[in-house]
Amino acid sequence: MSAPVVKGYCPGALRPMMSGDGLVVRVRPFNGRLRRAQADGIATLAAAHGNGLIDLSSRGNIQIRGVREDMHEPLIRGLAAMSLVDADAEIEGRRNVMVTPFWQTGEETDGFAADLTVALSSPDAPPIPGKFGFAVDTGRVPVLQTASADVRMERDAGGGLILVADGFDKGKPVASETVVAEAMALVEWFMQNRGDHKRMAALLASGVTLPGGFIVPRQRQVYAPRPGFTPLGAMVGLAFGQLEVKTLASLAKQGGLRMTPWRMLLVESARRLPKVRGLITDPDDPLLRVVACTGAPRCSQGLARTRATARTLAPHVPPGSFLHMSGCAKGCAHAGPAPLTVTATKEGFDLVRRGCAGDAPDARALSPEDIIKAI
Ligand code: SF4
Repeated sequence: MSAPVVKGYCPGALRPMMSGDGLVVRVRPFNGRLRRAQADGIATLAAAHGNGLIDLSSRGNIQIRGVREDMHEPLIRGLAAMSLVDADAEIEGRRNVMVTPFWQTGEETDGFAADLTVALSSPDAPPIPGKFGFAVDTGRVPVLQTASADVRMERDAGGGLILVADGFDKGKPVASETVVAEAMALVEWFMQNRGDHKRMAALLASGVTLPGGFIVPRQRQVYAPRPGFTPLGAMVGLAFGQLEVKTLASLAKQGGLRMTPWRMLLVESARRLPKVRGLITDPDDPLLRVVACTGAPRCSQGLARTRATARTLAPHVPPGSFLHMSGCAKGCAHAGPAPLTVTATKEGFDLVRRGCAGDAPDARALSPEDIIKAI
């Protein structure tokens, strides 16, 4: 298996990443939300400056694909005109903030996310590692615990606000007025104690002990995302988290969009599921049981056409299970273990059970037909 190239940072709009089909320009919607005009504007810009394809990332961001290098500057100007870029690439790199999509107007969540953004935009903010991130998960129950984040804001079983260091099962009780300052203090603690570690959970797993105060048990997430109606609007899925500009423009007509890390979008206030090409509205759709990275030919490291293979495998993945199809050992599409992982190699596909894309496989050099028999 050839070793994947690990870049150690998440691409942004101001610091895009080159892929097999051009630059990937990742927009990080502020407070995890796009107003209708912003969503429509992104669709227009992606059509003009990209190849017409848009990805949803596993951190709730939106990526414009296939941007030529000479188109990057006009694209950024267009995004900036809609208040969708940060003041500079350093601030953008720090602003890895996911927000529960289920906040209501007038609740505290939106304000916490805005205040955290201000704190991370300060010139004094610590130079945190590129993949270090935050989850503002302060609805009544947590929904973002399976998404990648290092510092989390959650609520305990009684509704009290707690600050959480990822990897620890208890949180620190905090007041609304101080939660962002406490979060930044936890970041400072991480920076002073991290050694070579880049993520909070890895630091805690190494035996380093948190400062005092992390004493309140966390709620355990039971929420499982699925398409359908919520009190706030319609949750819709996108196969492999990808949509065409026409689809995004159509969704923008329905309502503002709240970002999620689940390759789904919450269309605000929608009372009917929009009939738009490419949307998954059936919660039993087999495509919801597979994730696949971009793969070949659009990713230069891809060793197979991941999404076509995943479409073939999807109907054979049992309900309740989940298959991660990866174009190489890097495993971009899914952080952490999956019940079934299929990794493309130069010799065929490796199958890993209850593991990650780079783990030692249970079976090697399989064809798609072999995998169907094995699962
Ligand atoms: S996992 Fe997929 S998207 Fe990531 S580098 Fe490998 S082939 Fe490319």
